[in-house]
Amino acid sequence: MPLLSRAANRDRGTELFGENRSARRAVDLAVPGRPAFRGDQSPAGSEAIAQGGSQSRTRSIFFESCANPGCDSGWLHLWRSRQAPVFEGGWSCSAACTAARVSAALGRELDGRGQAQEMHRHRVPLGLVMMEQGWITPGQLRQALDAQRMAGSGRLGQWLIRQQGVSEQLVTRALGLQWSCPVMSLDYHDTEALTPLMPRLFVDAFGALPLRVAAGKLIYMGFEDRLDPIVALGVERMTGLRVESGLVAESLFVPAHARMLNARFPAVELVEVASEPAAVHVLTKAIERMRPVDSRLVRIHDCLWLRMWRRRQLGPVPDRSLIQDLICSIGLH
Ligand SMILES: [Zn+2]
Repeated sequence: MPLLSRAANRDRGTELFGENRSARRAVDLAVPGRPAFRGDQSPAGSEAIAQGGSQSRTRSIFFESCANPGCDSGWLHLWRSRQAPVFEGGWSCSAACTAARVSAALGRELDGRGQAQEMHRHRVPLGLVMMEQGWITPGQLRQALDAQRMAGSGRLGQWLIRQQGVSEQLVTRALGLQWSCPVMSLDYHDTEALTPLMPRLFVDAFGALPLRVAAGKLIYMGFEDRLDPIVALGVERMTGLRVESGLVAESLFVPAHARMLNARFPAVELVEVASEPAAVHVLTKAIERMRPVDSRLVRIHDCLWLRMWRRRQLGPVPDRSLIQDLICSIGLH
């Protein structure tokens, strides 16, 4: 592309020559690179980080160096400095540099695969938890287990409720003890306000139900009968908010979950690719097309979740129209 073709993107008021420019470059070089991508980093990207003062604001928007460590663009190229796209807090000067950064992020995300099993700690069976608490008798447990085996379906808790007349509240409390997590309520469940926290696909496929955001920094996330720490961690990293997981009684969870699936979510594109290079290509293309002010990549189970921000996010939860999600899965064929 010709050098001047993107001149319109450049801020004409910025001094590109002379002392000021050198000074700014010097400041830029003196500041170590952006911190590595962390869950607690503001998704607002360069603008948020640049809030320290006018000088740093100028630096961060106009004279940031390309975030690709392998970038070989000369300073002439950097001058036409497009301000976007930003990926994981770092600006990239060209599609090739965006691809390099996406590729590195993809490698980082795929490295963690297989650890899900390790995080699955052994848990005391639900029936034993309930018996230890004196909530059921050994006879009740035996009968419920027999019924479950004969039917070949249904969770033990459901059999205890339906066949043995145990209260749902006790079963949910026992699940909470089994998972060492709180039992959560559905008070003030504002479904529409919570849909920007995660794509509908994850609510559906992983049975995760955002319940509410507290104090602008904490998400309460409900599950029906087992926690999913991978989902919780992924949402934590993407949103920068801490996720507190808990269990919700089935009779409350099921209708609330159905309601959430019918709510409006941010736009999402679902893509399946055959290889990692193909994933890099798809993700890079999406970033280059939208030129987001920030974007992040997080893996949740087998799904690579790219979120792109059109504009700076102001509150703890992004506006639905502000973001665009892309979920990419790499097929094993
Ligand atoms: Zn570059």
